[in-house]
Amino acid sequence: MLAAMPLSPSRTVTELKELRELTGDENGAQRVAWTDTWERARAWLREKLDGLPLEHEIDEAGNQWWTLRGSSERAVLIGGHIDSVPNGGWLDGSLNVVAGAEVMRRLAEDGEPDATVRLVDWADEEGARFGRSLFGSLADQAELRERRDADGVALPDALGDHGVDLDRALEAHRQLEGAVAYLELHIEQGPVLESMELPLGVVLGTFGVERHQITFRGQAAHAGSTPMDRRRDALAGAAKLELEIREIAKRTGDGAVCTMGGVVTRPGIVTSVVETAECLLDQRHLDAAKLAEMLSNAESASRRFAQEEDIEVAWERIWNIEPILFDEGLIELADEAVREVAGRSHRLPSGPLHDAAEVARAGVPTVMLFVQSLRGLSHTKLEDTKEEHLELSVQALDRLAGRTIARVAG
Ligand SMILES: [Zn+2]
Repeated sequence: MLAAMPLSPSRTVTELKELRELTGDENGAQRVAWTDTWERARAWLREKLDGLPLEHEIDEAGNQWWTLRGSSERAVLIGGHIDSVPNGGWLDGSLNVVAGAEVMRRLAEDGEPDATVRLVDWADEEGARFGRSLFGSLADQAELRERRDADGVALPDALGDHGVDLDRALEAHRQLEGAVAYLELHIEQGPVLESMELPLGVVLGTFGVERHQITFRGQAAHAGSTPMDRRRDALAGAAKLELEIREIAKRTGDGAVCTMGGVVTRPGIVTSVVETAECLLDQRHLDAAKLAEMLSNAESASRRFAQEEDIEVAWERIWNIEPILFDEGLIELADEAVREVAGRSHRLPSGPLHDAAEVARAGVPTVMLFVQSLRGLSHTKLEDTKEEHLELSVQALDRLAGRTIARVAG
């Protein structure tokens, strides 16, 4: 018989510090996927869960699973990633697997749950070594085969060293069969909760993104001899557009963000009117229709400015992704769980993509909890969260897991 083991949120904080000692150095966390340090972290997590009545498995993609069989086959998944970027923070990803381990202990101690509960440690969320996150984005196998790390090691070889056969990695998708809910706790990695003085928030989904290169074309002309009213200045179009996208984001609201990340001008010399101005535009929104509207507003504004300045404008899409919305029912449960442990809750979108977005895209009802990040910093050794907030986040995940199990079983 196991000793009685109620939820111990402070143990999660202790274990996170232990993991930091084991796998970090003076520059931060070094748990880069497909490295020895990462394997050490994964073995450490296995030890932590040893002795519990859990089935352990590493799947075809290298994802690590612990399953607590319930009276129903329907499975509630709790997921995170123990891998980090090089010189990363101590909490990104690892918080959820370590907090998830604590929830698994509590559930196992309570006896057979009403639904099957599975903890998953996704392999290579960060894509730090090969520039590509693996799970759920495995469609382009040929492209993955070509990838090499900074030392020239091919991706299939590195995966092979860790027991993963790239040809079979897609078979890991079978793990989502029978999954009826996916729960993920993560640090916010942004400043919103801290600015609102809230420890915890509920994530509505991940932003849709539209990225474009916009090129304004005018005419290079001598800065001294060309009168002001005879100029075809490409930079004037770019400058007007940069100011207009701020208004577009403001008008759209609901978290809309638009960024002109760069403008390259040619010929780029002090004695010439600018002939071409290449702008990089990034637009994000949680609502697909509003994102499309922001894009079309920016396009029509750019044409208006081109006309005003007697220049041309051309748009080229660089990349886009649709917004991924989390499950409304689970968002409600998450809100209840957060209010119960922290008094107040707040719903917010996520700028970064997470494993949760891939799982939601695969059709599994999903929700995420965010815990406040100090100064909004992440992917650096300066990443931090107050210990009391970490403890609250473990409690909230536990309450959310309990509510979700009751919901899917009933
Ligand atoms: Zn992460």
